[in-house]
Amino acid sequence: MNSEAEKQKCASSEALEKQHQAALSLLEAQLKAAKEEEMSKILEQHRISLSEVKKKQWCYNCESEAIYHCCWNTSYCSVDCQQVHWHKEHKRTCRRKR
Ligand SMILES: [Zn+2]
Ligand SMILES: [Zn+2]
Repeated sequence: MNSEAEKQKCASSEALEKQHQAALSLLEAQLKAAKEEEMSKILEQHRISLSEVKKKQWCYNCESEAIYHCCWNTSYCSVDCQQVHWHKEHKRTCRRKR
């Protein structure tokens, strides 16, 4: 048995293993960076859509997207909803100047 050759083989396989480990951790780091980028993209998208939602007005009566604005903090998706809410309570609280 040639112990010298055996040692060499061992050393080269250790080097290979190290290389392999280095390649793996590089790959992991790249994956992590890609994931973080993906996450920040998703978060950015979420932030944008959230601010768009906040800009929208929602029907006071049924919570659909509102297209009719009555007065401060009060909008409706349709004339029907406006009428319903008007008779229910809004005629007492409406701030619209007339
Ligand atoms: Zn409505
Ligand atoms: Zn009103």
